[in-house]
Amino acid sequence: MFPIEDFRADLHCHSFFSDGTLSPQQLINEALNRGLSALSITDHDSIEAYPEVLNKAEEKGLSMITGVEFSAMMDGCSVHILGYSFSHQHPSIKNLCTKHSLRRTSRNQQILEQLAKLQMPISDAELKEVAKNSSTIGRPHIALAMVQKGYAESIQEAFRKFIGDGKKAFVAGNPISVEETLETIHEAKGLAVIAHPHLLKNWELFNKLLKLPFDGIECFYSQFPLAEQQKWEEIAKKNGLLISGGSDFHGATKPQTPLGCSYINERLFQPLLDRYKENR
Ligand code: AMP
Ligand code: ZN
Ligand code: FE
Ligand code: FE
Repeated sequence: MFPIEDFRADLHCHSFFSDGTLSPQQLINEALNRGLSALSITDHDSIEAYPEVLNKAEEKGLSMITGVEFSAMMDGCSVHILGYSFSHQHPSIKNLCTKHSLRRTSRNQQILEQLAKLQMPISDAELKEVAKNSSTIGRPHIALAMVQKGYAESIQEAFRKFIGDGKKAFVAGNPISVEETLETIHEAKGLAVIAHPHLLKNWELFNKLLKLPFDGIECFYSQFPLAEQQKWEEIAKKNGLLISGGSDFHGATKPQTPLGCSYINERLFQPLLDRYKENR
């Protein structure tokens, strides 16, 4: 048994503003119930949880830094980039979120058109109903609508058969580059972290990312085995990068991944907190 750290910071989770099922307030409560000391909500391409959530966390004694998970593309491959500690007053992050929202509206439309051609019609209204509070509507919502309409048994199956990368109803949409995403995060004085590096397509892509001005790597992720954590920690140290981590909690749509199942300790959290305090 490993001792549970006194101080645990989970820096990767999603609220209902993207594809999570809990509200930001519920995420704070869940974090406190699980004994976490610090949290960052990292919605896909959205900072709608901020700034209100910052005061709510502070009132309850939970340390919180700003966060977001941007979808980017490089060489036709998906790259998720976590932005932390940025100033939420700075317009650049919000502007990129708006750009993503426009990109998604047209891409979702194209995916629905593909599905209709495959005799699996889903109306705009039906997709909106599934997505409820989300400002970031994406494939996870389309997959859920497909399950509800009986086109697939599960979200996994919807991805595997129809909307996963390269599948029949997949549409890449207008990609936003890694470089533009890094520039945006840095303009807002934030820190840019390579999310779940093990999900990148190959080492060639990872090594290309290492040449760009990233600030950190997500070395502790979800239910990573110890050896996997150590591998990424070593790479981060060797490259002078910050070590970050979190659960990627989504709530009821990913029940096997509880909030706080991955975290960083106080020493690793300190530089992210310091940067946040400079920008507040
Ligand atoms: P999007 O941003 O609309 O392209 O959707 C990407 C999101 O879909 C990812 O962040 C994952 O949460 C989810 N996703 C991607 N591939 C799969 C899959 N094979 N099964 C279930 N969820 C997936
Ligand atoms: Zn997600
Ligand atoms: Fe991700
Ligand atoms: Fe995530």
